[in-house]
Amino acid sequence: RERKRKEGVNLLEMSASFFRERLRMPEAQTARDYLERRGLSADVQKTFGIGYAPGQWEALKQHLTGQGVAEAVQVEYGLLVQHEESGRTYDRFRDRVVFPIRDVRGRTLGFGGRVLGDAKPKYLNSPETPVFHKGRELYGLYEARQASHRLERLLIVEGYMDVVALAQFDIRNAVATLGTATTEDHLQRLFRVVGEVVFCFDGDNAGRQAAARALETVLPQMIDGRQARFLFLPEGEDPDSLVRKEGREAFEDRVTCASPLSEFLFDHAAQGRDLSQLESRERYASQILAAIEKLPEGMLKSLMLTELSRRTGVEQSRFEALMARHAPAPE
Ligand code: ATP
Ligand code: MN
Ligand code: MN
Ligand code: MN
Repeated sequence: RERKRKEGVNLLEMSASFFRERLRMPEAQTARDYLERRGLSADVQKTFGIGYAPGQWEALKQHLTGQGVAEAVQVEYGLLVQHEESGRTYDRFRDRVVFPIRDVRGRTLGFGGRVLGDAKPKYLNSPETPVFHKGRELYGLYEARQASHRLERLLIVEGYMDVVALAQFDIRNAVATLGTATTEDHLQRLFRVVGEVVFCFDGDNAGRQAAARALETVLPQMIDGRQARFLFLPEGEDPDSLVRKEGREAFEDRVTCASPLSEFLFDHAAQGRDLSQLESRERYASQILAAIEKLPEGMLKSLMLTELSRRTGVEQSRFEALMARHAPAPE
C-alpha cells in the first residue's frame, strides 16, 4: 500500500514537471500570454509550479506511458479520463493552465486547471484519488509555510487565482479551498499552523453564503486563544481583482479591519430584522443562541452570552436555562 502511494506521488510529480516544461515551449505562447495578462510574474509562476497542459488528447499519456507508467495507474490518479463505453483513455487536462496542489511537504497530490478563455468548465480539478481528497487539501498552504516559518494568520480565499495574485503582491499567507465549502478538516489543519484565520470570500452571493456556512463550521472549533474573522469584499470583487485595483496596503488594511466572528454573528443575525419588534427579537435571539450553543465551553462562550443578554435585555441566566434544556442529557 505504501509502495503504491509512493508510485502515485511519483507519477504526479512527473506530471507536474511535464506541465511546467510544456509552459516553456513555443506551443504555450497563448498560455504564457494569459498568465502575463493576469499579472503573474515568472517568479510567482515558479513558486507555485504553474504549468501548461497541451491541447492534444494524449500528450501527457504518451509521456507517462513512455516512462513505463501503466495506463490504469494514470487513470487511478486522475491524469487520464476513461471513456465509459469504449474504455479509451485520454488526458484530463488539455489546453489549460495547470496549478499543482501540494501537501504540506510539497508533494504534488493533484491539479487544478483553468481554461485560457471563456470555455466551460472554467476550472477542472483532479477527481478523488488514493492521495487527493478535495475536502481536505488547501491550495497554497505549502507555499505559505515556505514563505514564512512564523505564520500568525492565514487568509482563506475561494480560488487558485486569488492565492497566486495575492502572492504576486507579496501577501503570501492565503490558502484556497478547492471549489468546495470550508470543512472541519480544513479548519483543523489551519489551526494546527496558525491561531487566526480570516475568511475572505468573493463579494457575491455565493461568497456571502460561503461565509455564513464557514461560520457554522468554525464555531465548534473556537477554543479560547483562536480567532476567526470575516472580510467582506465590495460587490463584484474577489481578492485577485481587489488587490490589483487597490494594491497591497489597502488590501492589508481591509484584512486588519475584518470583522471578528462575534461581530459577524450578531450583525448577520440582525440583517433584515426589525429588532424593535418582539417577535423578530425572539428569532434574532434564538438564532444567536443556537450559534453560541455550538461554541466549546470557554471565555468566548461566556462573553457572547453576556453580549446577547445586553443586546436583547434578557437576563443571561434565562439563556443559560434554555441552553441547558437543549443540551443532550448526560449518559
Ligand atoms: P478566475 O479569476 O480565474 O476567473 P475565480 O477563482 O475568481 O477564477 P470563481 O468563479 O470565483 O473563480 O470560483 C472560485 C473557485 O471555485 C475557483 O478558483 C475554482 O477552484 C472553483 N470553481 C469555479 N468554477 C468551477 C468549475 N466550473 N468547476 C470546478 N471548480 C470551479
Ligand atoms: Mn465567485
Ligand atoms: Mn472569484
Ligand atoms: Mn477571480
